[in-house]
Amino acid sequence: MANVKLRRIEERRLKTGHQWIFSNEIQEVEGNPENGSLVNIYYSNGQYLGTGFYNKHSLFAIRILDKRPIPDLRTMFVERIFAALGLREKVYPNRKSYRMVFSESDFLPGLIIDKYNDTYVLQVNTVGMEKNLDIIVDILHRNLGAENVFTRNSPYFRQLEGLEFTDEIFIGNDDVQKIDDGKVKYRVNFQDGQKTGFYFDQCDNRNFTGELAEGLTVLDAFCNSGGFGLHCAYNNAESVDFVDSSVVEIQHAEVNFNHNVFACEANFIVAEVFEYLKNCADEGKRYDMIIIDPPAFAKQKKNIIPAKQGYQKLNRSALRLINNGGYLITSSCSFHITKEEFLDIIKEAAYKEEKVLQLIRYSGASLDHPIIPSMPETSYLKFCAFRVFDLKQEDPS
Ligand code: SAH
Repeated sequence: MANVKLRRIEERRLKTGHQWIFSNEIQEVEGNPENGSLVNIYYSNGQYLGTGFYNKHSLFAIRILDKRPIPDLRTMFVERIFAALGLREKVYPNRKSYRMVFSESDFLPGLIIDKYNDTYVLQVNTVGMEKNLDIIVDILHRNLGAENVFTRNSPYFRQLEGLEFTDEIFIGNDDVQKIDDGKVKYRVNFQDGQKTGFYFDQCDNRNFTGELAEGLTVLDAFCNSGGFGLHCAYNNAESVDFVDSSVVEIQHAEVNFNHNVFACEANFIVAEVFEYLKNCADEGKRYDMIIIDPPAFAKQKKNIIPAKQGYQKLNRSALRLINNGGYLITSSCSFHITKEEFLDIIKEAAYKEEKVLQLIRYSGASLDHPIIPSMPETSYLKFCAFRVFDLKQEDPS
C-alpha cells in the first residue's frame, strides 16, 4: 500500500473527523497508487493519520475511511453498512424504505444507498467506491437478501471525480416499487424519476406538515412525486393543488394520490412555480398553507447572491397568497446558504409583505440523513414551518 505525506496543514479539521484531503494538501506520494486504491496517510511530522481512498484526478485527493489500517475491505463494508442499517431500523422501526447509507455521514464517503423494500438504489460518487462495487453489491445480495440492485448516478458528482456517467443494473430489474413512509403509500418509478427515485430527506418534515393541514386549502409547490401534499391529504386537508414544472413528476404525484384513499380534493398542475404564484396573485386566489420546496438555487458558491434573491422572491410571492393565520412551509436545500441566512431571507420577505411570522418548527433533513458536525457539508437542508399573520387584518380566530 502506498504512503501519502501531507503538507503542514490545519490538522484540527482532520483530527475532528473531516473526511476529505484536498490535492493541494499533499506533500508527497510514495509509490504510484492506482486510482481508488487504499493509501496510508501521514501528517507532515510523520505521525500516522489513517487510511483512505486515493484519487489523483480529483480535487478531493483522499477520502479518509479510518484512523486505523483497514486489513480487509469487505469486513469494513459489512460493518459500516450494518451499522448504518441498524440506525435506520432503530429510528424507523415501522419502515422498510429509507436512505440506508448516506455517504460521509455513515463513514462511507461517496456511497449513497437508498433502500426501497428489497430494492437497493446506489449513487456512486467516488472512484474508491466504484472500484469496490462488486463487494458492495455482493453484501447487499448475500447479507441483506437484495432482490434488485442498480445505480442512479449523478453526472455532476461523477464528473468532479473523473468518473464516466453510466448506470448499471447489477441484480434483478428497475421496475416500479410500492413503498410507504409509515402513512402514505407511493409507487416509485425509477426509470423516469429524479435522483434515486424518491426524496427521503423530507420524510419527517412531510409528516409534521401533514399534521397541521386538517381542513386547510393547500398548495404543494415544487411537489415532485407529491410527498408533502399527500401527507396533507392523509390528514384531511380540504384541498391540495400539486404544482411542478415536470410533466412526469405531476403524473407521479397523481398516481401516488390515487394509490392512496383520500377524501380531499386534488388538482395536478404542470406549471413554473414563479409564474403560477404570480397568476394566483393576479386572480386573487388564496391558500391556507403553501409549501415551497425548490431545487437548490445555490449549487455553487458563486451563485449565492442570485440564489438569495430567488428565495426572497419566491417566499414573498407565497406570503402574499397566504390567508391570515395560515402557514408557510419553506425549505432550502442549498448547502451554501446557512440557516441564519435563510431565516434572514424569510424575515425580510415578511417585512416587505407586511406579515408577521411565528416560527413553529425549524429542522433539517430526516433522521436517515445524520450529520457529522465536523463536516458541515453533510448538513444542507433547512426546513421552516411558519404561521403567517397579516398586520393589516383582524386577528384570526
Ligand atoms: N417537494 C418534493 C421535492 C421537490 S424537488 C418532495 O417532497 O418530494 C424539486 C422539484 O421542483 C422537482 O420535482 C422539479 O421538477 C421541480 N422544479 C424545479 N424548478 C421548478 C420551477 N421553476 N417550477 C416548478 N417546478 C420546478
